[in-house]
Amino acid sequence: MTITSDIFGLSAAHTTDMHDIYKHLHAHPELSMQETRTAEYIREKLDGLGLETFLCGGTGVVGILRNGDGPVVGYRADTDGLPIQEDTGLDFASTATGTMPDGAVVPVMHGCGHDTHITVGLTAARLMTENRDAWAGTAVFIFQPGEETAAGAKAMVEDGLWDRAPKPAVIYGQHVWPGLAGTVNLSKGTAMAMADSWKVTVRGKQSHGSQPEQSIDPIVLGAHMVVRIQTIVSRQVHPMKSAVVTIGTFHGGLKENIIPASAEFTLNVRTFDHDVRDLVLGSLRRIISAEAAASGAPEPTIEEISSFPQCYNDPASAGDLMTALAEVLGKDAVLETPPVMGSEDFGLLAEAIGVPSVYWFFGGHPQEAFDGEHPPAGNHSPFFAPVIEPTLTTGVRAAMTALLSKLGTPA
Ligand code: ZN
Ligand code: ZN
Repeated sequence: MTITSDIFGLSAAHTTDMHDIYKHLHAHPELSMQETRTAEYIREKLDGLGLETFLCGGTGVVGILRNGDGPVVGYRADTDGLPIQEDTGLDFASTATGTMPDGAVVPVMHGCGHDTHITVGLTAARLMTENRDAWAGTAVFIFQPGEETAAGAKAMVEDGLWDRAPKPAVIYGQHVWPGLAGTVNLSKGTAMAMADSWKVTVRGKQSHGSQPEQSIDPIVLGAHMVVRIQTIVSRQVHPMKSAVVTIGTFHGGLKENIIPASAEFTLNVRTFDHDVRDLVLGSLRRIISAEAAASGAPEPTIEEISSFPQCYNDPASAGDLMTALAEVLGKDAVLETPPVMGSEDFGLLAEAIGVPSVYWFFGGHPQEAFDGEHPPAGNHSPFFAPVIEPTLTTGVRAAMTALLSKLGTPA
């Protein structure tokens, strides 16, 4: 349909409500796949707007807004917080705590800005409801839990999301980031990397530190693995291709004069191409196995922690959206960007039904934040504090633009 600007009319009352929602959500974050109160809050709001709602994948919420014959378009917002002690100094800062899967009680913060995503999704749903005469079709709002652990999209799909909700022709989503508030950044094609995380347990043979001949030392063995793994990107991946292999933890042993029975490390792989991913994961398995064999150690155990799919923007749909966004936000506010090495499980929602999707970023910081000596604190920082406006209004306008650009015109 043709987008007219009056549908974006956020009155003072709309804006106040939106800011209240944001502050409430910011003060009450929950950890991944534990977003129970958040889900209740979202569902109440959507029910209040008259949408058909259902819970999906545990703490996911779906809101269906039917408005006559026309295309079905999906919009996704993620809902989880992170185990971070907030240090923003905001008067609505979080003091919440949560319990990690290992039982540890931790501070929780909306440190990735998913509170802005929920707020934008709810406000867009409200405006769509209040402007039914301006569009036709069905909007499907997906409030997805557990993005940070790559569990949420999978859980919703496995819980029959697309058997229970009408299948959209295209699905949109967006993420706040430390860009200039009022602007959006989009890629055509690959938008974000695939990410695979593993936990590797290296087994040796325990002995007294003075009797190395009695041992198979898992620390020395594990250290060889860590060093050799560095050669995958430097010596095996084509120089014009991208990959990252990071070993983020390494733990072994309890005392300096005991050679321990085992050691463990966790690693994280980022790739853009399926063939590069296969190469890197295959090399990892080979190196881990062969280094153990070289030491006469048992075969190590590899456990998958998480696997994020590729976030791929259908080039035609992304191009259409860029044109529509430029009309609504202004040409200078829409920037085409190269892919980023971060990851998202958003792509899975569209992949599950073989439809295109488009994902973009919206800025959260004012110009002053970029004028200082240091760049503004980014996502996952305890200091991450997007400025409320024009961040939220821009997010709403972008979401509405995406939805309306593919929905129909009333007969
Ligand atoms: Zn995020
Ligand atoms: Zn995040």
